[in-house]
Amino acid sequence: MDDCLFCKIVAGEVPAEVVHSTERTVAFRDINAQAPTHVLVVPRDHYPDAAALAAGDPAATAEVLLTAAAVATAEGHDDYRLVFNTGAGVGQSVFHAHVHVLAGRSMTWPPG
Ligand code: C5P
Repeated sequence: MDDCLFCKIVAGEVPAEVVHSTERTVAFRDINAQAPTHVLVVPRDHYPDAAALAAGDPAATAEVLLTAAAVATAEGHDDYRLVFNTGAGVGQSVFHAHVHVLAGRSMTWPPG
């Protein structure tokens, strides 16, 4: 996708603090961190949201989740929250599938 911010991060055309990468994924720190650990894990290929990713590439979907767990472990967290916002109505602002890895502070439920 020519106009996708996260495609540009994956391609190295937009700077990001990459903390982990695999054959199918890239993990980088969120520029507006909401927790001591706030990392986004994205598939290298473009899908607009998590459901489209799961339908289109199950292997990459699994790799996104395994990368998220690896990031949490690498940062010393046994407890962490994974968030997939799907749709502008719940806060999705970048329409390239991504999971937020949040950890390092107490969290409430339900989320706001
Ligand atoms: O789930 P949502 O689509 O809102 O998440 C997008 C995330 O991308 C935001 O948390 C935002 O801070 C982050 N972002 C980023 N680097 C950018 C632009 C947005 O980490 N250059």
